[in-house]
Amino acid sequence: MSVLDKARVLDAADELAPFRERFTLPAGVIYLDGNSLGALPKRTAEVLARVVAREWGEGLISSWNSAGWFEMAARVGGKIAPLVGAAPHEVIACDSTSVNLFKLIAAALAMRPGRRVVLSEPGNFPTDLYMIAGLEAQGLATRRLAERERLLEALDKDVALLMLTHVHYKTGALHDMAALTRAAHDAGALVLWDLSHSTGALPVDLRGVGADFAVGCGYKYLCGGPGAPAFAFVAERHHEGLAQPLTGWFGHAAPFEFSDDYAPAPGINRLQCGTPPVLGLTALEVGVDLIAEIGAARLYAKSRALSEFFLECLAEFGAPLELVSPADSDQRGSQLSFRHSHAYALCQALIARGVIGDFRASDVLRLGFAPAYLSFADMAEAARHLSEVLSSGEWQRAGFRTRAAVT
Ligand SMILES: *Cc1c(COP(=O)(O)O)cnc(C)c1O
Repeated sequence: MSVLDKARVLDAADELAPFRERFTLPAGVIYLDGNSLGALPKRTAEVLARVVAREWGEGLISSWNSAGWFEMAARVGGKIAPLVGAAPHEVIACDSTSVNLFKLIAAALAMRPGRRVVLSEPGNFPTDLYMIAGLEAQGLATRRLAERERLLEALDKDVALLMLTHVHYKTGALHDMAALTRAAHDAGALVLWDLSHSTGALPVDLRGVGADFAVGCGYKYLCGGPGAPAFAFVAERHHEGLAQPLTGWFGHAAPFEFSDDYAPAPGINRLQCGTPPVLGLTALEVGVDLIAEIGAARLYAKSRALSEFFLECLAEFGAPLELVSPADSDQRGSQLSFRHSHAYALCQALIARGVIGDFRASDVLRLGFAPAYLSFADMAEAARHLSEVLSSGEWQRAGFRTRAAVT
């Protein structure tokens, strides 16, 4: 059986296949970049139009009460919670991942007086490393980076916080959350997990591993739209006494008493800073509802099947590329990355054929497999295009080499 025939059989048996219809996907496009910007759920435009016309247009200011805007950040957070193995009151949807990192790193440092080191790995997502550097410049932290094989030895008595990204953005390699969380706790440190490339693609069990803090992105697998609010998790045991530095009025215990003095809200609400972006949260909620309806376990099973099938197709069509991601699907998130000395041009040549992946400097072609809306036929077709682009040499055309601002 050819891989194209096999794709038809796999699609016919795929219980998630009907969910594709719930997304807007342009004709002629195979979208392998849902790990960078998730596709648009069909309901989003309709729900946004209703919130704009009725809740904003007609309800005006009263919608803060009557339409539930005031509780929205906590409500959407509570819906993200089951996807990351948290209790609803441990998650809030607010700010960006970068800002949430800043708040939680600072909160963790305050909980470990006498320790200043924030330990992470070189090659972690830039904003994660920059946020530690920002706190370092404020005199609050010392950044320490250790290669992943060396993290355990680097966990000494100076480490206040171990901060890592569960699924590596470039390679897709997974960290062992349970083992690293345990090791950090044994060393007296706290742990902050960045779940940007995990949430909505693979199951995470924050409670089960005993994580202290986590953050994650709303616009990737959660399909919340460009610049969607992010989320933050704080384990219940840390709620009391948690001090985050961005003490805005929405994190106040009673914002509408307009007191001169800050008093943090009880629980997760103290992570809010300013007025929440209601339209952004509206779009995020639609994406989260849809992804939560499918559920992390089914998403993960499909994601693994997709990437395994993609590799099978690539072997069949032939493509001389070095796999950067772990070959074993147990060890990677929902993506495959390949090294090629002209990865940027290769990516542009694929985009010209309607196969949208992305390029990550300096030499990586990254293909993401969002399980909610991709088919096995997409895998076979994308692999065929990749093989043809390589064998024909069409990536060498001059136009494919000019870099745009966003890659
Ligand atoms: C996408 C991503 C972010 C994004 O941060 P923003 O504040 O939304 O720009 C942060 N960390 C990781 C690991 C990511 O993959």
